[in-house]
Amino acid sequence: MAGRRIVVVGSGITGLAAAHRLLSDHPELDLLVLEAGTAPGGRIRTSPFVGLPVDEAADAFLVRVPWALDLCSELGLADELVAPHARTASVWLDGALRPLPSPNVLGIPLDPTSVYDGILPPEALERLSGDGRPDIALPDGDLSVGQVVRPCVGDAVFERLVDALLGGVNAGRADDMSCGVMAPQLLAAARRPEGLLAALRSAQEGVDPSAPVFNAHPSGMGHLVNTLAENLGDRLRLRSTVTGLGRTDAGWLVGTAKGVEVADAVVLAVPAFVAADLLAPIEAEAADHLAQVPHASVSLAAFAYRRSDLEVPGDQSGFLVPRDAGLLLTACSYAGSKWAHLDTGDRVLLRLSTGRIDDPRHTEMDGDALERALARDLATTIGVEAPPAAARISRWPRSLPQFSPGHADRMAAIDGRLAEVAPGLVVAGAFRHGVGIPACIRSGIEAAAAVAGHVA
Ligand SMILES: Cc1cc2nc3c(=O)[nH]c(=O)nc-3n(C[C@H](O)[C@H](O)[C@H](O)COP(=O)(O)OP(=O)(O)OC[C@H]3O[C@@H](n4cnc5c(N)ncnc54)[C@H](O)[C@@H]3O)c2cc1C
Repeated sequence: MAGRRIVVVGSGITGLAAAHRLLSDHPELDLLVLEAGTAPGGRIRTSPFVGLPVDEAADAFLVRVPWALDLCSELGLADELVAPHARTASVWLDGALRPLPSPNVLGIPLDPTSVYDGILPPEALERLSGDGRPDIALPDGDLSVGQVVRPCVGDAVFERLVDALLGGVNAGRADDMSCGVMAPQLLAAARRPEGLLAALRSAQEGVDPSAPVFNAHPSGMGHLVNTLAENLGDRLRLRSTVTGLGRTDAGWLVGTAKGVEVADAVVLAVPAFVAADLLAPIEAEAADHLAQVPHASVSLAAFAYRRSDLEVPGDQSGFLVPRDAGLLLTACSYAGSKWAHLDTGDRVLLRLSTGRIDDPRHTEMDGDALERALARDLATTIGVEAPPAAARISRWPRSLPQFSPGHADRMAAIDGRLAEVAPGLVVAGAFRHGVGIPACIRSGIEAAAAVAGHVA
């Protein structure tokens, strides 16, 4: 492998994870990472806000799957990770904040006695005391989350809890989301002969309820990408937008405004629509599949209130807003209560999300209008009338890919086509296994293994 050249395009967490794997496992390779932007990290960015390192997008990652935690361990960051202080979230239903039932799996309550008044109608509660067998036979193959959850526990649980949670976090519609990608544990449980609820309850028995679900870094998620980028040294080239891909007998040609790089293998760790454009002249069918992945645009606001203007419950992490509530806000994180490193004492720090695949209103507002609209939604939900003492809006256009049923098969078809007609060219990113940081790292690791195998 010595001297074989691999180019990774994109230095978001996916590209950085791929590059890290290649550098660690095969230091003899000639590795180059080309990044269009002026900094590494892509959709992960931490910047100062009211004197604190506040993430402008992702602020934590799931620790019940291994990839992010393993990477942090390798980088020597695992001991620095922190768990949230407050973990109880609420949902805005019928004009009131109501605590999410606990335990729940992606919003599905496992114990009907834990469901507070006003969340679900009596018939839904009665159904939750059963085993959750579907009232129609579930078709084979991948289904939408709605197709799985509605027949097992009813429409009210789906619309008021599951869609509020999954749809809110992913800025999508759970009725349109691939259950195989977004909630594989629900698909597997719903197909169990004992029923969805019975299967989820027995899986829950092995889970330590006090174990954190998420971890963060006190310096922000930017610390993870900066650590990875520093390890790459001058193998990472910023301000290097890749504008075209080609092939000669010498290998892959990767074109930028500054010249052409020749490579034995290439990882495209860019958003699906960018990969589609680059792939179009090489493999039209794969490019077409990628171009069809819809992406939601979201905005994330950080608001700091004077403590004299707002108090939030110290044991609460925030709340979700279902799509039919008529608000612009989709979620509010009480960041200062949730994370000790974001507790300033004199300020109450909130992180507010807005935007869904079918709600682009925020994209049509300028910063001031969006700030005012979000402040109005906070007045409605948590009763704060004073304006925030400081506010920051971060825009993330076309940032959250949406996964429709059959997504995994379409991705496998892309891999198959590329292996056949474009060996050595691999696509990776948030559009593969899910948008979460661990899923992106997993995709980067898989891409690294594929290109390393190609040049071996
Ligand atoms: C508001 C928001 C909040 C989120 N919160 C969380 C969270 O709390 N936890 C969590 O786990 N996940 C969260 N996510 C999801 C997660 O952060 C992203 O899915 C992930 O960071 C995407 O990483 P990526 O490397 O696949 O893509 P990107 O980060 O988009 O990286 C792609 C990189 O490619 C570069 N690029 C693009 N085109 C070219 C080109 N032609 N040539 C060279 N370079 C190019 C881009 O500049 C970019 O740096 C959130 C996402 C958003 C938007």
